[in-house]
Amino acid sequence: MGASQPAPDSKVVTRFAPSPTGFLHIGGARTALFNYLFARHHGGAFRLRIEDTDRARSTDAAIAAILDGMTWLGLDWDGDVVYQFARAARHAEVAHDLLARGHAYRCYATAEELTALREAQRAAKQPMRYDGRWRDRTDWPEDQPHVIRLKAPREGSVTITDLVQGPVTVANAELDDMVLLRSDGTPTYMLAVVVDDHDMGVSHVIRGDDHLNNAFRQLAMIRLLGWPEPHYAHIPLIHGTDGAKLSKRHGALGVDAYRDELGLLPEAVENYLLRLGWGHGDAEIISRAEATEWFGLEAVGRGPSRFDLKKLENINGHYMRAADDARLVALIAPRVVTALGRELTAADNDLLQRSMPELKKRSPNLNDLALGALFYLRSRPIPMDDGAAKLLASATPGVLAGAYARLAGVTDWSTATLEEQVRALADEFGLKLGQAAQPLRAAVTGSSQSPGLFDVMETLGRDETLGRIDDVITGRAG
Ligand code: GLU
Repeated sequence: MGASQPAPDSKVVTRFAPSPTGFLHIGGARTALFNYLFARHHGGAFRLRIEDTDRARSTDAAIAAILDGMTWLGLDWDGDVVYQFARAARHAEVAHDLLARGHAYRCYATAEELTALREAQRAAKQPMRYDGRWRDRTDWPEDQPHVIRLKAPREGSVTITDLVQGPVTVANAELDDMVLLRSDGTPTYMLAVVVDDHDMGVSHVIRGDDHLNNAFRQLAMIRLLGWPEPHYAHIPLIHGTDGAKLSKRHGALGVDAYRDELGLLPEAVENYLLRLGWGHGDAEIISRAEATEWFGLEAVGRGPSRFDLKKLENINGHYMRAADDARLVALIAPRVVTALGRELTAADNDLLQRSMPELKKRSPNLNDLALGALFYLRSRPIPMDDGAAKLLASATPGVLAGAYARLAGVTDWSTATLEEQVRALADEFGLKLGQAAQPLRAAVTGSSQSPGLFDVMETLGRDETLGRIDDVITGRAG
């Protein structure tokens, strides 16, 4: 354990609290990762809470996408998922407790009244906020619709010592008395967050800085409740490379699209997200173990970070090269099956497995890897792409037949022997090695680009290689 590693602190509890109104986006995934690493670094707990109180906008599909995305990224949470909506009765209980203790009050202002108030404030160029007209009244009609509002302090100020932003102060006069329970008795988001964080024992609230303003109001409520105050860490939002707030046009997709459409590996996405707003010296490639050891909020930047898809793809290339061959085969198998239009045989799988060491070096993502692997599995005669057709058209006459004759005589089918034979072939025809090798590459792979020709021939094996060359010589292919 390094000197910077604190002793396990079982009291550290973080949470990721997404609203299930859409996919798990890149900003949410980063928030989840930071919460996860902070908890793991301290030996604490990382909880997941689905904030599904907004019934109109929450969907089961979004919940499924969030759970799926978290699982894919390996951000395993502790305990059961907490569903906020299911806790509505508990939220109401806390609001009524505040009411009973004089820290909240009933407000009977109608929607029309509040609209008129806002319009008057707008006209007077005053900040728009509730004016507290029911704050000190106790003549509550029993049978009229009303909301319950927090009786927030009006004097003084609140300072949050944010672990990322530093100390931030807001005058209480700027915060109006927020609604805790709506007239239909349902809790507001602000109430639900405070109650759930408390009941889940959350010690550190780590989230996007778009929630900083909420933190002042939440803290005011926590103080009136007399509950322990959590630490806050508000992370700057992610922007696009052009500095504008991140949106789809910057390539900001749901985590599932990084997996399915871009063919990225989860460890690459994780590594990239980690570096987006957090750093450890010059380290770029950081393992989960290192991230857990090194992660701390003091190294989270205060400025917005910029999302760069190119960088993410580069990091992915690194992880592709490092990935286990069998795992890569399993990951590309569905793509390969779709492209070939048939299931894979045991022989196909074996071929894929043997092709991985070379192929993965040149494939920045799983889509390219799958595409690059197809030629190994095609049935003869294999299709030729334009590049291959050109190479074959301009090949020195007789060079493929010469290659066939030499290769047919090879008994030790190894890259070294194959290279020896192709070099001898080039000498025989008075060609440079490339001039002999390129038409062969075209015949064997159907393309002008592939992993090393001798590796390919060795992986394909003697019969398949000779068969493919023969297909071109006899005009069945090409
Ligand atoms: N549900 C909120 C969101 O998705 C997060 C609330 C919080 O982290 O306190 O933005």
